[in-house]
Amino acid sequence: MPLLEGSVGVEDLVLLESLVEESLLKNLQLRYENKEIYTYIGNVVISVNPYQQLPIYGPEYIAKYQDYTFYELKPHIYALANVAYQSLRDRDRDQCILITGESGSGKTEASKLVMSYVAAVCGKGEQVNSVKEQLLQSNPVLEAFGNAKTIRNNNSSRFGKYMDIEFDFKGSPLGGVITNYLLEKSRVVKQLKGERNFHIFYQLLAGADAQLLKALKLERDTTGYAYLNQEASRVDGMDDASSFSAVQSAMAVIGFSEEEIRQVLEVTAVVLKLGNVMVADEFQANGIPASGICDGREVQEIGEMVGLSSEELERALCSRTMETAKEKVVTALNVMQAQYARDALAKNIYSRLFNWIVNRINESIKVGIGEKKKVMGVLDIYGFEILEDNSFEQFVINYCNEKLQQVFIEMTLKEEQEEYKREGIPWTKVDYFDNGIICNLIEHNQRGILAMLDEECLRPGVVSDSTFLAKLNQLFSNCFRICHYAGKIRAQAQAEGNTGGTWGKGQVLGQGCGVTYNVTSFIDKNNDLLFRDLSQAMWKAQHPLIRSLFPEGNPKQASLKRPPTAGAQFKSSVAILMKNLYSKNPNYIRCIKPNEHQQRGQFSSDLVATQAQYLGLLENVRVRRAGYAHRQGYGPFLERYRLLSRSTWPRWNGGDREGVEKILGELSISSGELAFGKTKIFIRSPKTLFYLEEQRRLR
Ligand code: ATP
Ligand code: MG
Repeated sequence: MPLLEGSVGVEDLVLLESLVEESLLKNLQLRYENKEIYTYIGNVVISVNPYQQLPIYGPEYIAKYQDYTFYELKPHIYALANVAYQSLRDRDRDQCILITGESGSGKTEASKLVMSYVAAVCGKGEQVNSVKEQLLQSNPVLEAFGNAKTIRNNNSSRFGKYMDIEFDFKGSPLGGVITNYLLEKSRVVKQLKGERNFHIFYQLLAGADAQLLKALKLERDTTGYAYLNQEASRVDGMDDASSFSAVQSAMAVIGFSEEEIRQVLEVTAVVLKLGNVMVADEFQANGIPASGICDGREVQEIGEMVGLSSEELERALCSRTMETAKEKVVTALNVMQAQYARDALAKNIYSRLFNWIVNRINESIKVGIGEKKKVMGVLDIYGFEILEDNSFEQFVINYCNEKLQQVFIEMTLKEEQEEYKREGIPWTKVDYFDNGIICNLIEHNQRGILAMLDEECLRPGVVSDSTFLAKLNQLFSNCFRICHYAGKIRAQAQAEGNTGGTWGKGQVLGQGCGVTYNVTSFIDKNNDLLFRDLSQAMWKAQHPLIRSLFPEGNPKQASLKRPPTAGAQFKSSVAILMKNLYSKNPNYIRCIKPNEHQQRGQFSSDLVATQAQYLGLLENVRVRRAGYAHRQGYGPFLERYRLLSRSTWPRWNGGDREGVEKILGELSISSGELAFGKTKIFIRSPKTLFYLEEQRRLR
């Protein structure tokens, strides 16, 4: 039943008559088919990717949403952005906008909609506009270096991103800070069939003029590069050449100097060229196979570009120096090891370049210390991932999602509780599934999986993925399994009173949907070590940017202390993120991908059902309905329902609250159904609201 005239299905899932998965899906589908891609659960926005440009964005719509309160217009990301911004500006509450969903569901587009909305409504003036421009232009730069075409999404973000936008006390933007998480650097050297490397490589080759290409010692043809998949160099609807000039001008707007842009492109070119360094067998005098560079030209050119002799570069790529207390032993690498070293170097240069770019942007957009700030954080981060083969990356991504789920439940409940308190309404406890137990299994300082992995990485002696697994459960196999939060199974387990996570045979049990992780490469990926020969060689390079990316190559700084593992770093950045989020008022956008084909108009119920489970939508509705399903300010409520009573229609001279009391009193709605707050009326069950709507239509 429509809450607003002209709406399709219910605009807020809290108002569903029967709360089962089927009705939830049906409602989303009905709305999607009518191009209503946004639906609420209370103040949470669910967004189903339309895969087409809908005429619901731009200045006209921004102006409209700016003038109305949340429930007065159709559900929209703009409505959420508006509430968040106004609450930041007028109530001085820091905000965060959490956008989750799986690959291709529309997170990045949603984050850009939020940013463009806020940019359009906040402050004016030359200074302010230039700050806005810098903030907005960070997107194309980060997308060029951090996004790629995947099977699921032609413009997939291969890193997580959190951006704090900072405002002054009047609500004008001052600047911001970007934090990036875990770039998928393996993509630099290898891509799945049908996927591409990061956009920038193709943009550079397509968009650079002949002179620039020559200076970078590159050929225009992508087929000449081993690191670029040959069968997928073009993406439909994407113009790499014009993106290249857009990226360069975006960098200029942000404040990169010409020299800096040139250096960034040089480093990018070096990575691409590294892929063409061919390593082959070479037999040493004693007959032991070793590796050597087949074609010296590429190494020669890379050497020239980074300011390093080709001998030195070749030595770093093909041999390894072991240092003991007494002596240095140089051993030759075999071909496999040398290829591994080359790829490791390329991945490291690229991911460090990416971090450098983020830091450089931050340098430009940072806000002076001491300025009083209000903050809006926008989080665009990978959703829950279950692939056929789940590895270290999925493990940490899903861990992050467990933490976000924890924030979500706790903050939603807290927010509910606070609203009740503000309104002077008694709070009744809501039962919910606490996934703390699963978070603990992963992050506990001594007994967590990450801690055990680290212990295994640091342990002297023979360490391998299987010793790690054995440690996990005293069982030799090639995987372990975690039952993550979300979904039906969880609700069931809860009903049975089973809330404990236990170690089982080959399994780590929480509740919810089980994900099997393959331990292959866990140790290696967690260690994330680059041979010292390589970092030392890079540090010796004359190229200032390359050199600055490898500070640990400086022999004076070389400490024996090993850098934190990838898992430990991720865990601490997640902890910082959580602390940051907890200090702000949360706003949620839950993105859903309607089909696997990036096609408009197709709605696959099965696919959406799985996502609804991962996003915990039913649980969300349940929590929201546990107290009062609906609430509305006295003024708007009176306005909507005053025609239901002779006393308030056609004229009412009393206060809003008294008017509302009058109407509801006359309809003899049971008092348990209602609570009169300080500024709002609370209605317990959706049925009562339906009844009111029904009455309204009958008049
Ligand atoms: P990933 O996790 O892979 O980065 P994502 O959730 O960030 O995925 P997006 O890149 O935001 O997904 O969206 C994928 C594509 O879907 C976009 O490139 C765009 O074509 C389309 N799309 C998403 N949201 C919208 C929208 N609101 N209107 C029109 N098209 C959209
Ligand atoms: Mg994205």
